[in-house]
Amino acid sequence: MLLPNPPLPPSFDNEGDRMVYTGRFAPSPTGPLHFGSLITAVASYCDAKANQGTWIVRIEDTDIPRIYPDSEQHILKCLDAFEFESDVEIIYQKNRLDLYDAAIEQLQQKQLVYACECTRKILGSNHIYTGTCREKHLDFANQAIRVKVSDQNICFQDHLQGQHCSNLQTDLGNFVLKRRDGIINYQLAVVVDDYLQGITHVVRGADLLDNTERQIWLGQLLGYPQLEYMHLPLAMNAQGQKLSKQNLAHALDIQHAPELLSQAISALGQQPVDIDQPHKMLAQAVAQWDIQLIPKGTEIQGIFK
Ligand code: GLU
Repeated sequence: MLLPNPPLPPSFDNEGDRMVYTGRFAPSPTGPLHFGSLITAVASYCDAKANQGTWIVRIEDTDIPRIYPDSEQHILKCLDAFEFESDVEIIYQKNRLDLYDAAIEQLQQKQLVYACECTRKILGSNHIYTGTCREKHLDFANQAIRVKVSDQNICFQDHLQGQHCSNLQTDLGNFVLKRRDGIINYQLAVVVDDYLQGITHVVRGADLLDNTERQIWLGQLLGYPQLEYMHLPLAMNAQGQKLSKQNLAHALDIQHAPELLSQAISALGQQPVDIDQPHKMLAQAVAQWDIQLIPKGTEIQGIFK
């Protein structure tokens, strides 16, 4: 199967002078949305709209065993309650597995991927894969699929965090694109869908900063255009941990959507907006949006729950 062409032109409009902006909010239904997710939704939405861009919602549900019951419904209910509207129909990655397999096939034809039979037990606690299976030429069926990386620094200029670099060979080694159980890894699904949806700008939490070089590398191997990145500081709880599903962050309470929205806009350092219907608050936040005001660094201090 061949990958279809992306629906939108990559960077410039017909006159070739104004940058076309397509952003996205891509939650994984591994737990209900929390205040940290709201910050990401608000920032990705405001940044796209303040740049006359398109904003897309995508549900990242390839990791079936980690899907938390009813969290997909909770995400949709929140989007509704906070009056966020995706400019195109919401896509679900679990319905797009053929596309990710097609990307693996494309890499396989260029001999950029290989099958790996190493179990977690064999790998032990060593987080850097040394390439044990690289020359074994194993059959792809029922094995993990790894992509080759090279010994070079990959750097990008993050709109908030500045320059970020990684050498995938020394920091990580050849990494998994598809697990032995057939689950497509997040890194691959995100890169393929960002391309196919014509995404130009990625706005997300700084917890994903370290994934970016892997995604840039994959994009380069697949011949995709380079994206712009903005990694947001993370809201921390009273214990100094980032709000996350693992740290049992509170699910967003849709009964209090306007108040929560106002708090998220303030947490992003933006000028306050009047408490009103959420879509009006969002419109005001877009009109006032200024990325210079976003707190510097990778953490937002405050007592968030
Ligand atoms: N699905 C990821 C998450 O919920 C976000 C992916 C991304 O924005 O690249 O953490």
